[in-house]
Formats: sequence, C-alpha cells, structure tokens
Amino acid sequence: MKIKAAVLEKPHVLGIKEVDMPRPGAGEVLVKVKAVGICGSDVHYYVDGRIGDYIVEKPIILGHETSGEIAEVGAGVTHLKKGDRVALEPGIPCGSCQQCKGGTYNLCAEVRFHATPPYDGTFAEYVVHPAQFAFKLPEHISFAEGAMIEPLSVGIHATRQGGVGLGSRVLITGAGPIGLVTLLACKAAGAGVIAVVEGKQNRADMAYKLGATQVISTFDSDKIVAETKRLSDNYGFDTAIECSGAGPAAQTAVRALKRGGTLVFVGLFSALEVPMDLNAITQKELTFKGVFRYKNTYPTAIDLLASGRIDVKPLITVRFPWDKVKDAMDCAHKDAANQIKVMTEW
Ligand SMILES: [Zn+2]
Ligand SMILES: [Zn+2]
Repeated sequence: MKIKAAVLEKPHVLGIKEVDMPRPGAGEVLVKVKAVGICGSDVHYYVDGRIGDYIVEKPIILGHETSGEIAEVGAGVTHLKKGDRVALEPGIPCGSCQQCKGGTYNLCAEVRFHATPPYDGTFAEYVVHPAQFAFKLPEHISFAEGAMIEPLSVGIHATRQGGVGLGSRVLITGAGPIGLVTLLACKAAGAGVIAVVEGKQNRADMAYKLGATQVISTFDSDKIVAETKRLSDNYGFDTAIECSGAGPAAQTAVRALKRGGTLVFVGLFSALEVPMDLNAITQKELTFKGVFRYKNTYPTAIDLLASGRIDVKPLITVRFPWDKVKDAMDCAHKDAANQIKVMTEW
C-alpha cells in the first residue's frame, strides 16, 4: 500500500510523492499525522540543503514537530490504543550508550532525529514511531498545540538548565520562536522578572503579550546592562538565556549577570569565535550551560498546556493544509519577519 509524503529532492524542490506505507514493529505505533509545525531547521534544509555537517544527500521527508492519531499499535504496546491522540518526541536515542544510561539521552551520539539527514521526518500521511516516544494528549489540546510541544520542549529544557524558579530574574536575548517558548517556560516556572531583548517590533509585541515583564529594544550593551541593573537592585540577573545566536548578545549577557549567575546557550552562533571577558566569568563565578534539544520534557509540556499555565496558540501565526507544504515552507522562509510559527494541518 502507498501513502503520500512531501519529499525534498534538493533545495527548493519539494513535492508530494507516493511512498510505501510504513508498518509498526514490536513496541512501535503507526500514527496518522495531523499537524506538523515548520522549524527553522526545516527551512534551512529546504533553502540550503544543509545545516553545518548535516547535508541532504538523498531525498528526505522534512518535519519534526508532530502530532497525530494512533492508527495501529505494534506488538507489546499497552499504554496506547487506536484513536489516541499523541504528540511525537522526534529524537529516538539508542538507549544503551553511556549518555542514554546516564539520563542525558538528548546527548546520545547515535540518536535518530526526525528530518535530520539521513533520517526522514513526518510530512507524510502516516509515520511509524516508538510507542515510548509517543505521548497521549488530553482531548482539549488541539493537534496544532500538540505539535508545538516540540519547540516548547527546548524552552522547558533551557529553563531547567538555567535553574529558573520562583522569583528568578531572567534575561532572554532574542524573541524568535525559541526565545518566545523560553519566555513561556520561564513564566510558568515562576520567574519574577523576565526581560527580553528584541529589536523587531512584532516580536517585541508578542513578548509582552506572552508575559515578558520588560522588552528591551536596543542592542546597545551599556543600555541593556544599565536596565538589568535597574531591575535587580544593582545586583544583575540570576540567569541569561541566549536565544539569538548573536555574539554581542552573549557578551552583554556576561555583563548583565549577577555574581554567581548562569548563562544558558540555546541559539547557534553563525560566528563560531566570540570574544568574551574571560576574567569576568572567573571573577563573577559564572556558570555556562548549553542546550541541545531536550530530555524528559513532553510530559511536563503536556501538563502545562492541559492546566492552561502555558498557552502556545498565539505563537501559531499562519496555517496551511499539509499538501501545500511547499507554500508553507516558502512562507516560513520569505515571510520570516512576520511569522512566528507556520503550522501545517491534515
Ligand atoms: Zn524544531
Ligand atoms: Zn545512546
């Protein structure tokens, strides 16, 4: 039996093709896909055919922010049944390496991650997925919200890495989709001050709408540092979460942090070498932490959505039917300045 899938042949060449219907093996589920969000990484593969060392060398199916409905369960699957609505965690770790056994399965070197070459993603009518990475959605959570759990997971992991809790003063640099989900997670964690640095007006407006206590619209490091001092009785902030990938933002974060503060790196930098005041890091006893995807975030995200403590719906700025995925991808690419999340639906 054949199904339809959106296959990227090479940059900008993306069309609906017939592919084989996948079959669920033991421990797997067959999922009828219902919503897939378009991520910046999908757009990079679509436009450039690569992200760093990950290169599209053969046709690939993109998409990794996925929700759907269980169509069939494989042998041994007991916690899900046909008709259940699920969100899919897209990274499938090996389960047996040092990282997996140590609990940091997001750092597994053998991970198979949807839509990261050479592994296919989910722009298809059906996909097969390990049942243990399919998480049941409550009835009142829409499929589109379910797909948003993937980017939200990055924000939850960044919030955890930054030790953000009740009353924390947090600086978020960059209010793109990841900066905004990080803002939502920090707010849910109880942060007291959430100042967001963002130059684009529509994103600054969205940051306010989602609960930023301050939006700083200048990139002038002195002014940002002065504002963070003003907001923290001159101490500086507890945590800075860098979501812009801009070197100057990281430099500013070092200055804006209090002694003993934590700088969390989420954005990938286009310039790999960024000058840093290393003595400030030493003398202020700063902690630096990276964020690579996420781990153990899906149940948390589902609880936060189900209870209404996080609402991701405002982030979905435009929707396309899934068979118009090329139009959706062009929109995410060319209208990036105006869109936050482009969602495709079945
Ligand atoms: Zn993504
Ligand atoms: Zn592993």
